[in-house]
Amino acid sequence: MAAREFTLIEELRRMQRIGRADVCLGMGDDAALLDPAGRKLAVSMDTLVAGRHFFADADPADLGWKALAVNLSDLAAMGAEAAWCLLSLALPAGQRDWEAWLAAFMTGWQALAQMQQVALVGGDTVATDGPLTLSVTALGLWSGDAVMARAGALAGDGIWVTGSLGDAAAALDAAFAERGMGGMTADWTREERHFLEQRRLRPTPRLVFGRQAAALGVRVAIDCSDGFLADLGHILEASGMAARITLEALPVSAAVRRVAGRDPQLWSRWPLSGGDDYELILGVAPALEEELQTRANALGLALTRVGEVVAPGRDLPAGSVQLSWQDSIIPLPAQRGHEHVF
Ligand code: ADP
Ligand code: MG
Repeated sequence: MAAREFTLIEELRRMQRIGRADVCLGMGDDAALLDPAGRKLAVSMDTLVAGRHFFADADPADLGWKALAVNLSDLAAMGAEAAWCLLSLALPAGQRDWEAWLAAFMTGWQALAQMQQVALVGGDTVATDGPLTLSVTALGLWSGDAVMARAGALAGDGIWVTGSLGDAAAALDAAFAERGMGGMTADWTREERHFLEQRRLRPTPRLVFGRQAAALGVRVAIDCSDGFLADLGHILEASGMAARITLEALPVSAAVRRVAGRDPQLWSRWPLSGGDDYELILGVAPALEEELQTRANALGLALTRVGEVVAPGRDLPAGSVQLSWQDSIIPLPAQRGHEHVF
């Protein structure tokens, strides 16, 4: 059962089937040789650790998808087009049949890589005494003239969100509850529970829309991974601005809408503060809002205005959010989102 490094690497090479003309030399040598053809690079890295970012018994196919998805989501937030990836695998020695695990991992990875035509061009494979750890470096191409950053939001910009928020957090609550690890039970139907779990395990990076937004002239975006409030906070801090947000305007799925109902606590817990959505939050100048909405419609992607950027003041310092629920101002939840503590 003990798998060997070079057998695993061979398996990776066999299963990575994306051919790209800009890969001069892919996996298998001391370094990959790539040709961005004079275009500019966007580079990002994310790490997933068993027990922290996923349950140790998670389906490897879901992990393959998610390890790639969370990285592509970062490229989407920059308006970049995904092109190449590096994958580092630290596999706990002797813990399971890593050859079988890797084959399953690559089916999930490949499903998304195929959709986005991202080639796996290298990485590293090591045995560890620690937890299963997956690191991905994603490389993409960006236009070179339109930077879509966290800083630069202006008073009067609309705050817009793609897709729906809070599905993954609701699913995580249910998963924790099922495992007796806290969380929160709710009366989800089987179909709702399945839908939420898919949103948690197989997030959709909004690459096409991110590129269109950047091309249109949107200059402020972030991907929502740590919770809407936390990630919006990053935009506001970087921009030296504040925001007004209407809690019930946050886009939610039919499942979350049914169960959260008119309970502002649940709206705060899932769409407002819950993590792992991998939707985009954008700061959009008023002149661009209509056209951006048209583009989202054409993609069949929900795009929702949830509030606006305001100049900071005595009551609303830079970085802060004024939250309202049905026309009354309400306090922000104490737990704002995820941050690692060391
Ligand atoms: P080196 O000794 O030069 O670091 P390795 O033996 O670690 O090379 O890896 C051999 C080749 O396999 C390299 O091209 C490397 O990029 C690739 N590789 C190793 N692990 C992975 C992985 N997890 N994913 C993709 N490529 C990998
Ligand atoms: Mg190596």
